[in-house]
Amino acid sequence: MPELPEVETIKLQLEKYVVGATIKDIEILSEKIFSGDKDKAIGHKIVGIRRFAKQLLIDLDNNYSIMIHVKMTGQLLYQNPKIKNQISPKVIGGLGGKHTHVIFRLNDGDLYYNDVRQFGWIRIIKSEELKINNFAPEPLKDLTLEYFTNLLFKSRRNIKVLLMDQSKIGGIGNIYANDALWLAGISPRSTANSLQPKKVKKLYNSIHTALKAGLKYGGSSESSYVTPDGQEGEYQNHTLVYGRQGKPCQTCGTKIEKFFLGGRGTYWCKICQK
Ligand SMILES: [Zn+2]
Repeated sequence: MPELPEVETIKLQLEKYVVGATIKDIEILSEKIFSGDKDKAIGHKIVGIRRFAKQLLIDLDNNYSIMIHVKMTGQLLYQNPKIKNQISPKVIGGLGGKHTHVIFRLNDGDLYYNDVRQFGWIRIIKSEELKINNFAPEPLKDLTLEYFTNLLFKSRRNIKVLLMDQSKIGGIGNIYANDALWLAGISPRSTANSLQPKKVKKLYNSIHTALKAGLKYGGSSESSYVTPDGQEGEYQNHTLVYGRQGKPCQTCGTKIEKFFLGGRGTYWCKICQK
């Protein structure tokens, strides 16, 4: 599932490709995915792209926005005659195929929404309807060390499960939670309120380091994530502990173990992570 670095990478590319374009038409091939009045968007210019946690907003010049959540397998792909990239095979069925559900026809290109599992959604909303205070603080934006420390201090949950709770912190999913905990030398099973202040600060910094590495590599494409230009991210080749079961720990050489915590694959060096 895309996490913060993946959705941020989508946002940055959409800024490059579609801001300034005018929406000429919207073809809705799957009613289930799309809600709201498409006529509020047609004929209007795209003035900006925003991201809140894993949701994207395409802001229009009439104070309406197109809100998009790609969920598990949603993909946004931009095509125009100037982009001649080979599209990743992770775009199953290609563009305009059976997994394409919405096509935004722009004056200078087309923006496709593909989604194999169809858990994602697109809504037309009044820009002011977005309740910004409903989003939990997120790293690289407004997650302060003070909030983070308080959150951990009050919780008896496993630290990894807490890090991934989107109602408490926005944007950290399984890949970056695993890598941040390894970087900080903290066992994923640790109870959140058992961590010493020094460890809490180390974890806070490690979260930022892991997410920044994800951004640097354009996100992780181990499953269906691709960028709007049809390319894959590279972070899956640079993970620190995630997906490395049976391989040596990069610090001490001990074999990385895998177990399930809160239903999610969890990777752990039993020597480095206490
Ligand atoms: Zn180790």
